[in-house]
Amino acid sequence: MTSNITRNRTAAASPLSRFDIEKIKADFPILNETVNGNRLVYLDNAATSQKPRVVINAIIEYYRKTNANIHRGLHKLAEDATRAYEATRAHTASFIGGVASEEIIFTRGTTESINLVACTWGEENIHEGDEIVITEMEHHANFIPWFMLAKKKKAVIRRIPITVCGHLDLNNIDEIINPRTKLVAVTHMSNVLGTINPIKELAAKAHARKALFLADGAQAAPHLPVDVKDLDVDFYVFSSHKMLGPTGVGVLYARRELLENMPPFNFGGEMISEVSFDRVTWADIPHKFEAGTPNIADVVAYHAALTYLEEIGMENIHRHEMELTGYAIEKLSRIEGIEIQGPQDVTQRGGAISFTDKDLHPHDISTFLDSKGVAIRAGHHCAQPLMRVLGKIATARASLYIYNNEDDIDILCNALVEMRRYFGL
Ligand code: PLP
Repeated sequence: MTSNITRNRTAAASPLSRFDIEKIKADFPILNETVNGNRLVYLDNAATSQKPRVVINAIIEYYRKTNANIHRGLHKLAEDATRAYEATRAHTASFIGGVASEEIIFTRGTTESINLVACTWGEENIHEGDEIVITEMEHHANFIPWFMLAKKKKAVIRRIPITVCGHLDLNNIDEIINPRTKLVAVTHMSNVLGTINPIKELAAKAHARKALFLADGAQAAPHLPVDVKDLDVDFYVFSSHKMLGPTGVGVLYARRELLENMPPFNFGGEMISEVSFDRVTWADIPHKFEAGTPNIADVVAYHAALTYLEEIGMENIHRHEMELTGYAIEKLSRIEGIEIQGPQDVTQRGGAISFTDKDLHPHDISTFLDSKGVAIRAGHHCAQPLMRVLGKIATARASLYIYNNEDDIDILCNALVEMRRYFGL
């Protein structure tokens, strides 16, 4: 039970005190909002993060001072807008370990980035009998594009199972990744279990079989330092909106030679070199993959999100979330009836914490918490195959970020205790 949860721990006693959460919270205007008469406690960060003032202002400033279409106009605004858009590309390239700018493609999100790879590289390189390896813990975004491709090409989907503790079970990995494997596509961090997967080790296994490796970084890039060259992945995908940036901006990193050999994804303006009535040639990368007018304002504002994260430091963010995840797991596991999914060891997981109550549906948990101002997610988390493996129809999920602190966890846990009392449990 949580009767001993204390709301007013002194800063000196807190292991999180070196991280100035109050200052960070103050940068996020939405965290001053009240929900159902209570201060908002936002714990749905795996779905989308909140935005700091610098990102909100960057959008406003862009439309007030710079707005123009990019890569075409010869006037000052067009040049400024192009420079700002391309500056974000360069920043993104350095954020993931210092790759070349041309190796960064902007999309609408992780989902579109994976679809781009499936529809271009996949269309050309996956053939009948080839195998695509995924894991049991994939988000639908990193399953359905491969499922559809395999169906069309008569290829085979193989999956790496999970252990009861929520890790990948690598016992048969050398049989699962085999000479027929053409692609291994694995989430860097599970959006349900929080598990951080051994991407570098799996990429090496894929390469030993001459297969390519795609890492879904949607839940990792916002929370951990990521170096795609060190991980030695061929594709790495993630979304701006889960890392303090605007919605509608996704990233696809791919090695230059892959991008150069892949066909375009969409066709139209800005992705061509020359067009005549009987012949079309493509623009160089990255423009070959960015047909039409992109989401300029949000890409420009994403720059501010990356700067904000870097100023705090990705190592610091990771350490803070490890400590807070440990605190949350300990508190949650003391509440009667609550069962936590996924690894318990905070060095092997992130702050997406799924849990169930033995007596209540996750939707009821979420609705009750909402009445207390606490925002969590309940459902299958776009991972229905994983839910089947776990034997659950749904889970509740509290997911943490840089502006969360022990107070937020205490409010969550106290509300869960109150919920069980309310339902007479
Ligand atoms: N992959 C993972 C692991 C995710 O958690 C999500 C979103 O929750 C996605 C992919 C899809 O991201 P988006 O909706 O931004 O395309």
